[in-house]
Amino acid sequence: MKTYEPIIGMEIHVELKTRSKMFCSCSADWFGKKPNTHTCPVCLGLPGALPVPNKIAIEWSIKLGLALNCKIPSFSKFDRKNYFYPDLPKGYQISQYDQPFAINGNLKKVGIRRVHLEEDTGKLIHQGDSTLIDFNRSGVPLVEIVTEPDIHSSEDAKAFLQELHRIIRYLDISDADMEKGSMRLEPNISVGTGEVPDYKVEVKNINSFNFVKKAIDYEIARHKEILEKGQVPVQETRGWDEKKAITYSQRLKEKAHDYRYFPEPDIPPLIFKEKEIKRAKDQLPKLPGDKRRELKELGLKDDDIEIIIDDIATLNFFEQALNVVRLSGNREISAQEIANWLVNKKINIDKQNPKDLIMAIIAKKQNSQISSDIVSKAIDKVISANQKAIDDYNGGKTGVIMFLVGQVMGATKGKGDAQEIRKLLEKKLTYG
Ligand code: ZN
Ligand code: MN
Repeated sequence: MKTYEPIIGMEIHVELKTRSKMFCSCSADWFGKKPNTHTCPVCLGLPGALPVPNKIAIEWSIKLGLALNCKIPSFSKFDRKNYFYPDLPKGYQISQYDQPFAINGNLKKVGIRRVHLEEDTGKLIHQGDSTLIDFNRSGVPLVEIVTEPDIHSSEDAKAFLQELHRIIRYLDISDADMEKGSMRLEPNISVGTGEVPDYKVEVKNINSFNFVKKAIDYEIARHKEILEKGQVPVQETRGWDEKKAITYSQRLKEKAHDYRYFPEPDIPPLIFKEKEIKRAKDQLPKLPGDKRRELKELGLKDDDIEIIIDDIATLNFFEQALNVVRLSGNREISAQEIANWLVNKKINIDKQNPKDLIMAIIAKKQNSQISSDIVSKAIDKVISANQKAIDDYNGGKTGVIMFLVGQVMGATKGKGDAQEIRKLLEKKLTYG
């Protein structure tokens, strides 16, 4: 029996939500806009137009690199990646080749090989027999994260991507909305049989965590079947068909040298000083890992922590609610109690504000206190007014309990719950 080990790496493209594009002043807010209205000679690739790099996009890429525990080299540069495709009007993409902004990081025990900055392409729209091109997306800042092949299962791949997604949202550098294509996922997969596999299959442009998981599982099974026959899977790029839940062959994989990378002559190299990098590191916001620890210290349940930190709006709501409690000096509402309302009662954080939630919790507590006082007084009254029924009960006619429950319900005008009242009555009659 052979043992098979899946070896998985990831490439992730994320569109940054800067106001302007990467190398020109056109608006980068392209989604849903009238085609070819966010364009200029630079992002249309007209001859002679000169690129000017977007400072914010560079800062954000470095922020992301730091959040992924990367080293930021003091010297970086842009390069031209040459290839022909209709959505790339210049005939090359400005990207980074051998000297990216960030290298050698890690996240969830997965090595981060590099984080680099490049520009997005235009969008092809296929209509019947013809294809239209919209250049609104051309030149939008695109950050690419490349991992080492350190992932060994589809579950781990999904968990890694979800944590990366959270980090990007916490850094507030992209909406990372997969439905709009602002975060695009590309796993590369091979299956080892003891020795290092000499092939790799890349699945392009997947737009959900679940699809990545399914595509990886599909590929692992496909490779095993081929390896089982003593053959080696073909090194290639494949697409993902979400309706059929299968991958399909697209093209044989290009080697890096096919792109004829060379330094971008129109943009000078970038130099970062040690203290600039240190300052950027000091200014990083708290990340999901930090928040996980903080909520753990508050005594929250692990499952609830994961749900709360998964969405930054929910986390903010939770923290604000906790703050309301702290400022009010109320000691009766615990962090876990707030979490219960957020997680189990699924209150709508868009419609309610944290202060209202706390008021509602306090009111509920007071109400249940009041109604339990009313119920216990009513029980005492009913017991002293129904000696005959009590004697029957003590004599073994336990069915009479329902009559007593009815009396209590009547006396409290329906406050309290019949099951609860029954339990209280039984306790009282048994133990006095
Ligand atoms: Zn432009
Ligand atoms: Mn890329």
